Amino acid sequence: MNKLDTALVSSALKDAGFNLTESVKEADVVLINTCSVRQHAEERVLSHLGHLKHIKESRPDMVVAVIGCMAQRLGDKLLEHEAVNIVCGPVQLPQITELLTKALQQKKKELAVTQKIRRKTPRQQDQALEQFESAYGIGDRRIPGQAFVRAMRGCNKFCTYCVVPYVRGPELSRPPRAIIEQIKKLADQGVKQVTLLGQTVNSYKYKSGQRSYCLADLLDMAGNIEGIEWLKFVTNYPAEEFFDEILHVIADSPKVCPYLHIPAQSGSDKILHAMNRRYTAQWYLSLLDKARDIIPGIAIAGDFIVGFPGETDEDFEATVDLVKKARYRNCFIFKYSPRPGTKAETRLQDTVPAEVKQRRNIELLAVQEKISGKLSAEFLGKEVKILVEGLSKKPHLNAAEGDDNPQLLGRTATDYIVVFNGQQSLAGQFAKVKIIKTSPLTLFGQLT
Ligand code: SAM
Ligand code: SF4
Repeated sequence: MNKLDTALVSSALKDAGFNLTESVKEADVVLINTCSVRQHAEERVLSHLGHLKHIKESRPDMVVAVIGCMAQRLGDKLLEHEAVNIVCGPVQLPQITELLTKALQQKKKELAVTQKIRRKTPRQQDQALEQFESAYGIGDRRIPGQAFVRAMRGCNKFCTYCVVPYVRGPELSRPPRAIIEQIKKLADQGVKQVTLLGQTVNSYKYKSGQRSYCLADLLDMAGNIEGIEWLKFVTNYPAEEFFDEILHVIADSPKVCPYLHIPAQSGSDKILHAMNRRYTAQWYLSLLDKARDIIPGIAIAGDFIVGFPGETDEDFEATVDLVKKARYRNCFIFKYSPRPGTKAETRLQDTVPAEVKQRRNIELLAVQEKISGKLSAEFLGKEVKILVEGLSKKPHLNAAEGDDNPQLLGRTATDYIVVFNGQQSLAGQFAKVKIIKTSPLTLFGQLT
């Protein structure tokens, strides 16, 4: 979601005549797009701001804007920071160029956030967001051939640990026509893979006259767009809502990738209840069974929080048990971080000591690593189709001096990461690669 917002802002700024630079030294304007999901993410922003404050001592004209969730959460408190000129929440992003231009000319501090974030967004603001969203495509796109497209904004689930409903506002599904038009435009510009985004993307629903649209309808319509080869969607909430329809569209459409990111968060029913996740571990596992029955080769990924208030060793063992049974391709594991204003933070004590959270995190990662290792090993000797993203993190690995075949990175339809040596011009293209070595999170291949 934040990558998309960054791309939208970059695109808008480029259109307004700004030039993008990665170097703070060169910049007249610095934008920090922020996340409030865990305290650590916010601490990193504050540390960046400390650094920028130093730089501004010798360059007082530099304009610093903090955008996104932390801007919405902290509002004027953040504006008080010496380094900060602009605080702009997610709903106000369409105003960003105007705010920057004003700050550059008038040197005044500007606050643009929503006062009552849980209220329905006023029509005018909604239209501005739609316009901002659909203009995207012309500007900066970091991964060639790929684009994110928002299907929904906000969230209404109110998991007790989560800050998202308080910073992104109520759930709202974008009109299917706007989404499809946007995807067509992206396809015309050479985009081959689109990932539809929503905090609970499977609950996408939009009523237009007599007809109502769900995510499966969107995927189906997007699958008919010429030029679009792969469709992905994240993130799913484990609920019955439209689930069968989604599984069937994955099974029936060659363009919808057989990959499901569906966070469980815990394997203990007691903790799931305290988290306000509205399912049991058993029910969740039966959902995965159903997915595997309908789409045999499907890859499943999950998220977990360890050390939620009241999580005992027994609760944690239930999570380990669920991870073993779920056979995820990979898992994102987080240590519980109390977020101000959430129910878990206001009503529950953060009882699990930091070292226990750390130990459980490491243990769960190790359990998952074994499973990922086994699943990856099944690819040995096989040929896979990947969409090439660009240079890997170690582009010079296995590349001879002066060789124009650096190490590249791509992903399969099931989201496996594949590295191989090849020409950089392959970025944004599909390629076939034979897997010659595997590790839990990476497949190593050779172009065929
Ligand atoms: N909407 C998605 C869902 O329902 O699973 C995920 C949204 S959240 C931005 C991404 C992940 O961050 C969650 O799946 C959860 O595991 C983790 N997370 C959210 N709040 C957290 C907290 N307070 N402490 C630790 N991890 C948290
Ligand atoms: Fe947060 Fe829960 Fe909404 Fe996901 S579903 S964004 S975890 S409140």
